[in-house]
Formats: sequence, C-alpha cells, structure tokens
Amino acid sequence: MIVGGGPAGVHMSACLAAKGYKNVTLLEAEAEVGGKSLTMYDPSQPDVPHELGTCYMSPGYTLIRNLLDEYDKDIVTCNWKILEMM
Ligand SMILES: Cc1cc2nc3c(=O)[nH]c(=O)nc-3n(C[C@H](O)[C@H](O)[C@H](O)COP(=O)(O)OP(=O)(O)OC[C@H]3O[C@@H](n4cnc5c(N)ncnc54)[C@H](O)[C@@H]3O)c2cc1C
Repeated sequence: MIVGGGPAGVHMSACLAAKGYKNVTLLEAEAEVGGKSLTMYDPSQPDVPHELGTCYMSPGYTLIRNLLDEYDKDIVTCNWKILEMM
C-alpha cells in the first residue's frame, strides 16, 4: 500500500511493478496523480502551460533525467548540452 500519488509514490509503484509485485495499491487523495508536479492551463491561453510546483531541473538531476528518458521519451524534448553549458 502506497499513500500518495506524487512523483515518489508513482515511481515506487512503478518500481514494485517492474520487480513483479502484483498486489500494489496506490492511494491518491486528489483526482489526478502527480502531486506537486501540476500543470494548469488558463482557458484564455490554452497553449500556455503554468507549472504550479515542480518546474526546474538542473543538469545534475541525473536520476530524474534517466526517468524522463524512460517514461516520456516521446514527449519530453530538452537539449541537455545547452543546459550543461549554463
Ligand atoms: C512551489 C514549489 C516549487 C517546486 N519546484 C520544484 C522544481 O522546480 N524542481 C524540483 O525538482 N522540485 C520542485 N519542488 C519540489 C517537488 O515538487 C517535490 O520534491 C516533489 O513534488 C515531492 O514529491 P512527492 O511525491 O514526495 O510529494 P508530493 O508531490 O507532495 O505528492 C504527495 C501526494 O500525496 C497525496 N496525499 C497526501 N496525503 C494523502 C493521503 N492521506 N491519502 C492519499 N493521498 C495523499 C497528495 O495529494 C499528493 O498527490 C517544488 C515544490 C514546490 C511546493
């Protein structure tokens, strides 16, 4: 039983599933998982995302970068070489 579907809970659930555990329950109080990684859209500017929590990442976040490659390979585009020069 995992309480909280923020990044930690979602990742722990995925890790347990990858190890073959089948009896894993993730409890989330809100309507969506993600926790503080929450993107809102203003209806008047539907193409402009507003990050309400997690939004910055430094090149040193290697574990997170590896997870992005694993989970979001098709939708996350980021030129790490530019970031590493900053
Ligand atoms: C304003 C702000 C800006 C930030 N910016 C960055 C950033 O730029 N880069 C960065 O790396 N990090 C940033 N952080 C930190 C990052 O958001 C947290 O490190 C990350 O969200 C922690 O993930 P978590 O899964 O531990 O907790 P959370 O994201 O807090 O998720 C916890 C989840 O548990 C749920 N929950 C709580 N209690 C219960 C319950 N009793 N039953 C069921 N569900 C429950 C909540 O609804 C929530 O979905 C920021 C944080 C804030 C507040």
